[in-house]
Amino acid sequence: MSTVVYIGLGSNQGDRLANLRLAVEALKGIPGTQVARTSGIYATEPVGKANQPEFLNLAAEIETGLEPGELLAALQNVEKELGRERGERWGPRIIDLDILYFGQRVVGQPDLIIPHPRAQQRAFVLEPLAELAPELVDPVTGKTVREMLAGLDRRGQRVERAGS
Ligand code: ATP
Ligand code: CA
Ligand code: CA
Repeated sequence: MSTVVYIGLGSNQGDRLANLRLAVEALKGIPGTQVARTSGIYATEPVGKANQPEFLNLAAEIETGLEPGELLAALQNVEKELGRERGERWGPRIIDLDILYFGQRVVGQPDLIIPHPRAQQRAFVLEPLAELAPELVDPVTGKTVREMLAGLDRRGQRVERAGS
Protein backbone atom coordinates (compact mmCIF):
# COMPACT_ATOMS: atom_id res chain seq x y z
CA MET A 1 0.00 0.00 0.00
CA SER A 2 1.52 3.30 -0.95
CA THR A 3 0.43 6.72 0.19
CA VAL A 4 0.64 10.10 -1.54
CA VAL A 5 2.67 12.41 0.68
CA TYR A 6 3.59 16.07 0.36
CA ILE A 7 6.98 17.25 1.56
CA GLY A 8 8.00 20.87 2.11
CA LEU A 9 11.66 21.57 1.31
CA GLY A 10 13.64 24.68 2.25
CA SER A 11 17.22 25.95 2.27
CA ASN A 12 18.79 29.26 3.23
CA GLN A 13 22.47 28.37 3.61
CA GLY A 14 25.22 27.51 1.14
CA ASP A 15 24.26 26.82 -2.49
CA ARG A 16 20.54 26.77 -1.84
CA LEU A 17 19.47 25.59 -5.29
CA ALA A 18 22.03 22.77 -5.27
CA ASN A 19 20.91 21.76 -1.77
CA LEU A 20 17.28 21.51 -2.91
CA ARG A 21 18.21 19.52 -6.04
CA LEU A 22 20.35 17.12 -3.99
CA ALA A 23 17.51 16.70 -1.53
CA VAL A 24 15.02 15.84 -4.30
CA GLU A 25 17.52 13.28 -5.66
CA ALA A 26 17.94 11.88 -2.15
CA LEU A 27 14.13 11.51 -1.78
CA LYS A 28 14.26 9.22 -4.82
CA GLY A 29 16.72 7.02 -2.95
CA ILE A 30 14.48 6.43 0.08
CA PRO A 31 13.34 2.77 0.08
CA GLY A 32 9.83 2.17 -1.24
CA THR A 33 9.51 5.80 -2.26
CA GLN A 34 9.07 7.59 -5.60
CA VAL A 35 9.04 11.29 -6.36
CA ALA A 36 5.95 11.92 -8.49
CA ARG A 37 6.11 15.71 -9.05
CA THR A 38 7.85 18.80 -7.75
CA SER A 39 6.65 22.41 -7.68
CA GLY A 40 8.58 25.39 -8.95
CA ILE A 41 11.07 27.04 -6.65
CA TYR A 42 10.13 30.08 -4.59
CA ALA A 43 12.27 32.75 -2.98
CA THR A 44 10.75 33.49 0.41
CA GLU A 45 11.21 35.79 3.35
CA PRO A 46 12.29 34.03 6.57
CA VAL A 47 9.37 33.55 8.97
CA GLY A 48 9.73 33.09 12.71
CA LYS A 49 13.20 34.56 12.96
CA ALA A 50 14.35 37.62 10.98
CA ASN A 51 17.95 38.63 10.19
CA GLN A 52 18.84 35.53 8.24
CA PRO A 53 19.21 34.89 4.50
CA GLU A 54 16.18 34.47 2.26
CA PHE A 55 14.99 30.90 1.74
CA LEU A 56 14.38 28.93 -1.41
CA ASN A 57 11.40 26.60 -0.98
CA LEU A 58 9.56 24.01 -2.99
CA ALA A 59 7.06 21.21 -2.44
CA ALA A 60 7.35 17.60 -3.61
CA GLU A 61 4.66 14.99 -4.14
CA ILE A 62 5.99 11.55 -3.31
CA GLU A 63 4.51 8.09 -3.04
CA THR A 64 5.77 5.90 -0.25
CA GLY A 65 5.18 2.50 1.26
CA LEU A 66 6.77 3.67 4.52
CA GLU A 67 4.88 4.50 7.68
CA PRO A 68 4.95 8.17 8.81
CA GLY A 69 7.58 7.57 11.52
CA GLU A 70 9.79 5.65 9.10
CA LEU A 71 9.53 8.43 6.55
CA LEU A 72 10.43 11.07 9.16
CA ALA A 73 13.55 9.08 10.09
CA ALA A 74 14.52 8.78 6.41
CA LEU A 75 14.05 12.54 5.90
CA GLN A 76 16.17 13.30 8.95
CA ASN A 77 18.89 11.05 7.50
CA VAL A 78 18.81 13.01 4.26
CA GLU A 79 19.08 16.28 6.20
CA LYS A 80 22.10 14.90 8.02
CA GLU A 81 23.74 13.55 4.86
CA LEU A 82 23.42 16.96 3.26
CA GLY A 83 25.26 18.43 6.23
CA ARG A 84 22.53 19.92 8.35
CA GLU A 85 23.55 20.58 11.88
CA ARG A 86 20.94 20.89 14.56
CA GLY A 87 20.90 24.60 15.25
CA GLU A 88 18.24 26.75 16.78
CA ARG A 89 14.66 26.28 15.72
CA TRP A 90 13.69 28.42 12.74
CA GLY A 91 17.34 29.45 12.33
CA PRO A 92 19.43 29.18 9.13
CA ARG A 93 19.77 25.71 7.62
CA ILE A 94 21.27 23.92 4.65
CA ILE A 95 18.14 21.85 4.22
CA ASP A 96 14.80 21.38 5.95
CA LEU A 97 12.42 18.57 5.02
CA ASP A 98 8.96 18.63 6.59
CA ILE A 99 6.09 16.19 6.13
CA LEU A 100 3.11 18.41 5.26
CA TYR A 101 0.45 15.78 4.48
CA PHE A 102 0.54 11.99 4.59
CA GLY A 103 -2.54 10.94 2.62
CA GLN A 104 -5.47 11.71 4.90
CA ARG A 105 -3.61 10.42 7.97
CA VAL A 106 -3.66 12.41 11.20
CA VAL A 107 -0.65 11.82 13.47
CA GLY A 108 -0.14 13.35 16.89
CA GLN A 109 3.04 11.95 18.41
CA PRO A 110 5.53 13.91 20.50
CA ASP A 111 8.02 13.97 17.60
CA LEU A 112 5.66 13.91 14.64
CA ILE A 113 2.56 15.93 13.94
CA ILE A 114 0.69 15.53 10.65
CA PRO A 115 -0.76 17.61 9.05
CA HIS A 116 2.19 19.90 9.74
CA PRO A 117 0.70 22.24 12.36
CA ARG A 118 2.18 25.49 11.03
CA ALA A 119 1.75 24.86 7.28
CA GLN A 120 -1.62 26.61 7.17
CA GLN A 121 -0.22 29.99 8.18
CA ARG A 122 2.80 29.81 5.85
CA ALA A 123 2.80 31.27 2.37
CA PHE A 124 6.16 29.59 1.66
CA VAL A 125 4.47 26.20 2.21
CA LEU A 126 1.04 26.83 0.67
CA GLU A 127 2.17 28.59 -2.54
CA PRO A 128 4.31 25.68 -3.81
CA LEU A 129 1.83 23.11 -2.47
CA ALA A 130 -1.05 24.81 -4.29
CA GLU A 131 0.82 24.28 -7.56
CA LEU A 132 0.74 20.53 -7.00
CA ALA A 133 -2.48 19.94 -5.09
CA PRO A 134 -4.89 22.91 -4.84
CA GLU A 135 -7.83 20.60 -4.09
CA LEU A 136 -6.05 18.56 -1.40
CA VAL A 137 -8.26 18.60 1.70
CA ASP A 138 -6.72 19.08 5.14
CA PRO A 139 -8.10 16.16 7.20
CA VAL A 140 -8.29 18.28 10.36
CA THR A 141 -9.91 21.49 9.12
CA GLY A 142 -11.68 20.18 6.01
CA LYS A 143 -10.28 23.10 4.02
CA THR A 144 -8.58 22.74 0.64
CA VAL A 145 -5.09 24.09 0.03
CA ARG A 146 -6.66 26.68 -2.26
CA GLU A 147 -8.97 27.85 0.55
CA MET A 148 -6.14 28.00 3.08
CA LEU A 149 -4.07 30.07 0.66
CA ALA A 150 -6.96 32.45 0.04
CA GLY A 151 -7.42 32.93 3.79
CA LEU A 152 -3.76 33.54 4.51
CA ASP A 153 -2.48 36.63 6.32
CA ARG A 154 0.42 37.46 4.01
CA ARG A 155 1.90 40.33 6.00
CA GLY A 156 5.67 39.81 6.34
CA GLN A 157 5.53 36.78 4.03
CA ARG A 158 6.94 37.78 0.67
CA VAL A 159 6.99 34.79 -1.71
CA GLU A 160 8.19 34.99 -5.33
CA ARG A 161 8.33 32.20 -7.86
CA ALA A 162 12.01 31.99 -8.72
CA GLY A 163 12.18 29.19 -11.28
CA SER A 164 11.63 25.51 -11.73
P1 ATP B 1 8.78 23.96 11.91
O1 ATP B 1 8.36 22.59 12.40
O2 ATP B 1 8.04 25.08 12.55
O3 ATP B 1 8.78 24.06 10.41
P2 ATP B 1 11.60 23.44 11.92
O4 ATP B 1 11.35 22.74 10.62
O5 ATP B 1 12.67 24.48 11.97
O6 ATP B 1 10.27 24.12 12.45
P3 ATP B 1 13.11 21.33 13.02
O7 ATP B 1 14.17 21.78 13.92
O8 ATP B 1 13.47 20.96 11.59
O9 ATP B 1 11.92 22.38 13.02
O10 ATP B 1 12.38 20.04 13.60
C1 ATP B 1 12.00 19.95 14.93
C2 ATP B 1 11.23 18.65 15.15
O11 ATP B 1 9.95 18.70 14.55
C3 ATP B 1 11.83 17.40 14.52
O12 ATP B 1 12.80 16.83 15.34
C4 ATP B 1 10.61 16.47 14.35
O13 ATP B 1 10.60 15.44 15.31
C5 ATP B 1 9.44 17.39 14.61
N1 ATP B 1 8.30 17.25 13.71
C6 ATP B 1 7.00 17.22 14.15
N2 ATP B 1 6.16 17.11 13.12
C7 ATP B 1 6.91 17.08 11.98
C8 ATP B 1 6.58 16.97 10.60
N3 ATP B 1 5.30 16.90 10.18
N4 ATP B 1 7.60 16.96 9.71
C9 ATP B 1 8.89 17.05 10.13
N5 ATP B 1 9.26 17.15 11.44
C10 ATP B 1 8.28 17.17 12.36
CA1 CA C 1 10.21 23.56 8.76
CA1 CA D 1 11.85 20.55 9.98
